[in-house]
This record gives sequence, structure tokens and C-alpha cells, in this order.
Amino acid sequence: MIKDIPLPAIGDFTDVPVVEILVAPGDTIAENDSILVLESDKATLDVPSPVSGIVREVLVSLGAKVSAGAIILRIETETVAAPPPAADADHSPLVVIGAGPGGYTAAFRAADLGREVTLIDPRATLGGVCLNVGCIPSKSLLHIAKVIDEAEAARDHGLGFAAPEIDLGKIRAFKDGVVGRLTSGLEGLARRRKVRVIRGTARFTGPNRLSIDTEAGPQSLGFDQAIIAVGSEPVRLPFLPEDPRIIDSTGSLALAEVPTRMLVIGGGIIGLEMAQIYHALGAGIEIVEATGQIIPGADKDVVAPLTRRLREKGIVIHTDTRVTAVTAGARLEARFTGPKGDFSDSYDRILVAVGRRPNGDRIGAEQAGIAVSPQGFLAVDTQMRTSQPHIFAIGDVVGQPMLAHKATHEAKVAAEAACGETVAFEAACIPSVAYTDPEIAWVGLTEAQAKQDGIRVGKASFPWMASGRALSMGRGEGLTKLLFDPDSGRVLGGAITGANAGDLIAEVALAIEMRADAHDIALTIHPHPTLSETVAFAAEAHLGTLTDL
Ligand SMILES: Cc1cc2nc3c(=O)[nH]c(=O)nc-3n(C[C@H](O)[C@H](O)[C@H](O)COP(=O)(O)OP(=O)(O)OC[C@H]3O[C@@H](n4cnc5c(N)ncnc54)[C@H](O)[C@@H]3O)c2cc1C
Repeated sequence: MIKDIPLPAIGDFTDVPVVEILVAPGDTIAENDSILVLESDKATLDVPSPVSGIVREVLVSLGAKVSAGAIILRIETETVAAPPPAADADHSPLVVIGAGPGGYTAAFRAADLGREVTLIDPRATLGGVCLNVGCIPSKSLLHIAKVIDEAEAARDHGLGFAAPEIDLGKIRAFKDGVVGRLTSGLEGLARRRKVRVIRGTARFTGPNRLSIDTEAGPQSLGFDQAIIAVGSEPVRLPFLPEDPRIIDSTGSLALAEVPTRMLVIGGGIIGLEMAQIYHALGAGIEIVEATGQIIPGADKDVVAPLTRRLREKGIVIHTDTRVTAVTAGARLEARFTGPKGDFSDSYDRILVAVGRRPNGDRIGAEQAGIAVSPQGFLAVDTQMRTSQPHIFAIGDVVGQPMLAHKATHEAKVAAEAACGETVAFEAACIPSVAYTDPEIAWVGLTEAQAKQDGIRVGKASFPWMASGRALSMGRGEGLTKLLFDPDSGRVLGGAITGANAGDLIAEVALAIEMRADAHDIALTIHPHPTLSETVAFAAEAHLGTLTDL
């Protein structure tokens, strides 16, 4: 039977140009094979075939503009030749368990190296925590918060706007749209690489076999090699009652409503990012942190401008303070203990952001003979091999820092090692970023760590009050700090507070990886006027050649 294939509705696009045609008359294609690539100003989209068959006619040309419903192909669906060789349903040479940034990167890299790969994840969309309920939705909402804050701050510079009209539904749609674009992009990348995707939750039943819980029931799958990338989930505080008003990061990203008063338990990166989002949208925010400062991993001087700004905005921060109990009544009554003694207060919502726990103890690892730590981490060597050499593990499940960019780098090492390449994960440093306002970013050695470990360091800071670019943005509160080996002059660490610190820290990470010293950075001509100059100025400050201060 000859069938006309219309362009499916894949996003809110009209008149999108065709930039690639992946099939020609006579080709045999399977359902979900990519047939066209479209490119809008927002995204590149793979168009999958809804049926299997033989292409009889391609009804669009390169550069043509198409909209949903346009007939793009004519396919003969009856005389289908055998589908392209699929992986044996009961066996896969390489399985990747978990499709977060670690898992999908490992799967795609192994497929690019010629391996037949099966990727398993229970979520409806690929991308794991990062794309679905982590990095990407939080950054989309932080963008909204930043626009609100900047519009407000512009009043001081002679540019007054009316109070923002907040349409939560549209904000959610914007965030979901960004997530949808990226996750559907991943589906396309998986299809193009012929990575077989199974929706389900996998458990080891032996060193070379998995049982997968799928919607259609349990499925058994044998494998030669496996890469575990099952990530982590939010830590729960056992004393908190079950109450829909007590939410974790996933609940807060759903943005069901903006409460009048919200308590954030945990002053780490996730808690602070969500606190700033909800505060910009109109919630009253209190943050309680058990240690002596917010963002405990970063140096105190770097965090100080953020603490100051949050307090100036009316956000209450309790440090060295713990929540000891919560009672759910008409409101949520929280009890605290801290330097001010015991006290209590009530809230409309409580966001719990006290860290994440690895999922290593939930996959039947013992059946495969893989060692799991009491915390749920899987131990790996520098090639990301577990105690079973044919089984690798990557990402949040193998240890701190639980960050997407660590997961993707480990993923490439694991995939390449599984394919027989001589590789190792030997990163000299892994940058951390809080996408707060101001952003806080640090990499390599911190001053606190140097002090604790008795490491001698040379330190140089450049205050952004002396940066023309920072001042012209009205943001002179920033700071760029570098730590050097006092003998060799090599960069050992760095930290930046201020706008775009997360982007700027990459230069310091490169300097550490390249074993660069203060001269290398200071003698590299940085464009003027930019925030990146502050890195060079800090290096000049160390060398005594700084003339901007
Ligand atoms: C709110 C929030 C914001 C964040 N922001 C950032 C940020 O800005 N930058 C950054 O670097 N990091 C950020 N992170 C952390 C980042 O999301 C994680 O470090 C990253 O997602 C880890 O990747 P992963 O591949 O190890 O695991 P995950 O992304 O956790 O993916 C694991 C996947 O495995 C699946 N899975 C679990 N068990 C099984 C099983 N038994 N069988 C099959 N599949 C299974 C899960 O469904 C999940 O999809 C954020 C996290 C949160 C919660």
C-alpha cells in the first residue's frame, strides 16, 4: 500500500526550512528512522518516520519551508524488506543503564565507535535529572528571575519599568518548552545512531544479565558489557511529615504556585537557586543552613557578596542552624535550633534541598558482584570500571561532585574504554558553579582546603569595583581570586563571584589543566572591556605588574 506521510507536529513551528534529507527513493526505512532534518531559529529537529516501508517519493526539497501536516514522503508499506538488523531482543553487546548526561553521552560515544548499544531508562524522555528536573529547567527559571531583578535594578540607572505581570502558566510553558526541545533533540540523536532505547527500570540478576521492568511487563536482557549511569535522587529528612506542601527540587521546579512564605532547608547550590527563583516571583524566603555559611564548598570571601545581596533583598538566612521538627497543620510549623537557641516559625511551603543520594544500592549490584559503599556509591578505577571489569559506572552514582559535566567526561572515558581504547579519567579539576545572582564559581584548590591541608599558596584577588565592564553593568560587587603555587607560580585554584562567573571560570580550569602559571595568564591579551580581564588582572596582581588598581 502506498501511504502519504505528513510532517508530524513536532513543536510550535511553522515554515521551517529543510536542511537535510536523509532518505532517497528506493530506501528501506524502519519506523522512527530519521527522514528529514529541520532547522528553526530555535532548534534543529529530526523528523522520524511514523511507519516502516520503502520510500517511493520524496516530496520536499532541500531549503523548502514546511509546516505540520505538509506531505513530505510517499512510502510503500506492504512490501517491506526485513528491517535493518536490530539488536537481539534478548542480548545486547553493550547496555547503558540510565539516560542522564552520563548515560546518553556514553551510549552515543560507544555507538559512534561502532558499537551496538541499548540504553535503558524509565523516564518518558531521555536526559535524566539534568535535562528533565535539574540543570536545564532550573536555568530556564533563573533566566526569568534575572530578567525580573534586572528590570527592577534598572530603575536606579534611570530606567523604570512597571511591576512585572507574572503569568505562571506561560513561565512553566517556557521552561517545559526548553526541556522539550532538548529532550526531543536527544531522541533524534539516539535514532540517528541506531541506539536502541528501552523504557524501563533495570536490575542486575547476574554478572551478565538484567531484568527490566517495562510497561509491558518484566523483560530479561543479557549483555557483554554494561555502563551504569543511574544517578542520584534528593535526600529526604526522615523526621519530616508526608505533606504535599513539603517539596524537593523536582516539586519546586514544577512551579505549581508561588507561596507567600517558603522555608528552604539547605543553603547549597540547588537550595539557593530555587530560593532566588521563588523570591523573584514574589515569595518571602527564609534559608536555613546547618554549616557556618551558604554554599559551604566555596571560600567565605567569594560567597560574601551573594550573602549580602540576598539579605539586602529581604531573604532571611540562618546559618549554623538546623530544623529539628516540622508539624503539618493549617501551616507548616518548623522548629529550629541554632546559635540563637531554639525557636519556631510557620510557612506555606518547605523546600528540602539537603543534598542528593546515589542510586547504586537500588540496582541489584550484589547480583552482578559489584561493590557498593554504605552510602550507595559504586567504586570505580580511572577507566570507570567497577569491581567487575566488564561493568563500568559513571556520573552521580560514582561520587562527588554530583555535576553533569563530570558525568559526561566520565561517560566518554567509560565508552572508549569499553571499546578497547587506552583512556583514563584524570581531570586535574572539576569546576563548580552556583547560578545565583551574583554567580559563584570555583575550581581547583580553595583557600579553605589549602589551609586545612597545610598547602602553601600565593593568593591574588581583583575586586570588580575596578573593572570598567562590571561597573558599566552596575555590578561592581564581584571578585576574581586566583591561588598559585608560591614556588612554580602555577595556578592551583580560582574562584569568581559576579555576573557570568560560571562562564569565566572555564579559563581558570584550562589554566590548571595546562599547568599554566601567572605569566601565561597575565601575558595572554584579554579583550577590553570584559569581565574576562579580571582573571588576567588577578594574575598581574600576583606578579606585581597590575596597573588597574
Ligand atoms: C535542581 C537541580 C539543578 C541542577 N543543576 C545543575 C547544574 O546547573 N549543573 C550541573 O552540572 N549539575 C546540575 N545538577 C546535577 C545534575 O543534574 C547531575 O549531576 C546529573 O544529572 C548527573 O547525571 P547522571 O547521568 O549521573 O544521572 P542522572 O541525570 O541522575 O540520570 C540518571 C538516570 O537513570 C535513570 N535510572 C535510575 N535508576 C535506574 C534503573 N534502575 N534502570 C534504568 N534507569 C535508571 C533515572 O531515571 C535517570 O533518568 C542539578 C541537579 C538538580 C536536582
